[in-house]
Amino acid sequence: MPQWIVNLAYLLASALFIFGLKLLSHPRTAVRGNLLGAVGMLIAIVVTLLDQRILRYDMILLGLVVGSAVGALLALKIHMTAMPQMVALLNGFGGAASLLVAGAALIEAQADPATLTGQFKVATAASGLIGAVTFWGSLVAFAKLQELIPGEAVVFRGQHLVNGLVLAISLALCGWVVARPEETAIYWGLAAAGSVLGVLATIPIGGADMPVVISLLNSYSGLAAAATGFVLNNNMLIIAGSLVGASGIILTRIMCHAMNRSLTNVLFGGFGAQPVSAASAESVYAGKVKATSPEEVAMLLETARRVVIVPGYGMAVSQAQHAVQALANLLKSRGTEVLYGIHPVAGRMPGHMNVLLAEADVPYEDLKEMEEINPLLKQTDVAIVIGANDVVNPLARTDPKSPIAGMPIIDVDQARTVVVIKRSLSPGFAGIPNPLFAAPNTLMLFADGKKAINEIIRSLQEATVAA
Ligand code: NDP
Repeated sequence: MPQWIVNLAYLLASALFIFGLKLLSHPRTAVRGNLLGAVGMLIAIVVTLLDQRILRYDMILLGLVVGSAVGALLALKIHMTAMPQMVALLNGFGGAASLLVAGAALIEAQADPATLTGQFKVATAASGLIGAVTFWGSLVAFAKLQELIPGEAVVFRGQHLVNGLVLAISLALCGWVVARPEETAIYWGLAAAGSVLGVLATIPIGGADMPVVISLLNSYSGLAAAATGFVLNNNMLIIAGSLVGASGIILTRIMCHAMNRSLTNVLFGGFGAQPVSAASAESVYAGKVKATSPEEVAMLLETARRVVIVPGYGMAVSQAQHAVQALANLLKSRGTEVLYGIHPVAGRMPGHMNVLLAEADVPYEDLKEMEEINPLLKQTDVAIVIGANDVVNPLARTDPKSPIAGMPIIDVDQARTVVVIKRSLSPGFAGIPNPLFAAPNTLMLFADGKKAINEIIRSLQEATVAA
């Protein structure tokens, strides 16, 4: 196939990626955006497969079959709650692919020294380093979120010094790869140093910071792919890698902003290494927590004019989104205004709550972002918190020693009555108590999220029939 056709097809695929990303920024157009991106990827793959530089198809075909089967199986099997670690793993594989492809290209180029250009050598070193850091960093992130290893931050004396030293060795090895590209062993030495760096850079990050790290590793996987694009002189890979790199870093920034943390603090702060909150669960809750029943909540809802539902990770665990939507519909049919307050880091991945509620056909216009819902909470009769904890924890505002200090929260405590649905008083992801549960205007409904909502619906319906 002539090169100009390949480049034209790559240009078309790139345009589809960019329009796809644009459409992904709104729930209403996201499905179309995803489809556009997928079509772009199909075009890119088909055109690349027709490239004359491919000599044999058997191994490629085998890889396609095995990869597609594993990917399809994972996509079908994975629970929504395990999506962050799945994304971490996929980022890691992207990094590993870049590392291996650049290594293979280096071995191939050694046969013809004329091909060892400056661009080739620098890009190969960059692919090797970033690819290895991404792969091992993502594996650690996966293992932490999957609870294969403890999730807390692992910190030790002189950690920054050790990390700095490994980084310096890695950069020196990059220089050595550029200076002596004919020595394959140096490249694998660089890969080993990058692997150690990936592990060391990720273990001190724990607690609620893991999503930010995954998003950052996503960005790295894009950078590694873009570098590999320069190794292979493949425009498509350069563009796609840059798009992933840029969108990953934008998402990282948005998440840091939502947690009111700087990226430096996330990466080097050792968040979650030890409980730093001054408040102990005993002193926060003792004698102050009021339990309620579905019947009592139904009575409250009967007279409410505005109800705000604030979902969190527990809604995902109990898969309560359909029940929540049914409750909202029932309340609306009785003339109650129902809105949803969505915190940007509620759940375990960006957009987690939006995805679940969209699956249950909750109208997009009912979903309000934190900045929009907070001013309305003072004029809210009942705030129903379902499976959310950290994102409604007032300690973020009041305790400067708390690990979530300064994180903007949804101010449900401003509502006239707050109903919190969760199974116990156990803490959320950040591992700290929540004074909201002991507030005078809070009622705790201790139950599984879905079961509790269904019981509230039943009580409301019975009350309607009786009236
Ligand atoms: P939290 O993790 O703070 O709290 C979730 C609560 O859900 C728990 O306290 C738990 O209490 C309750 N729960 C669990 N299962 C059920 C169930 N079946 N029914 C009812 N309740 C249940 O969640 P939030 O959404 O408030 O906060 C998210 C946290 O996760 C933040 O700290 C955020 O930084 C972090 N994070 C965010 C990511 C993102 O990108 N969105 C990714 C990874 C982490 P109990 O056991 O008593 O039921």
